[in-house]
Amino acid sequence: MPEMAPDFTAHAHPVMAVPCPTCRAGTGSWCQRPSGHRASNFHRSRGAAADAAFTCQHGELASIARTPEGWIVDPDGLRPREGGLAARRRPETGPE
Ligand SMILES: [Zn+2]
Repeated sequence: MPEMAPDFTAHAHPVMAVPCPTCRAGTGSWCQRPSGHRASNFHRSRGAAADAAFTCQHGELASIARTPEGWIVDPDGLRPREGGLAARRRPETGPE
């Protein structure tokens, strides 16, 4: 494991586990607009980077879910099955 392995459960949003290739927001920081204000959404490139890193780290079938206590990684979340974690708990989607 590399030293800098992202921790997808450590931040307010899993995407924050990786830095943004577009606006250079660091790990744990929100994306920024060119004006320096906080962007309302993460850049698409950052989402893709987080997705790739997550799959690399946790595997093709892993998913991440928000719980009242924070984020949890379900290593088997995308495997189709009845009563699975992904079926019980879906990540909330924020406002567009
Ligand atoms: Zn960004």
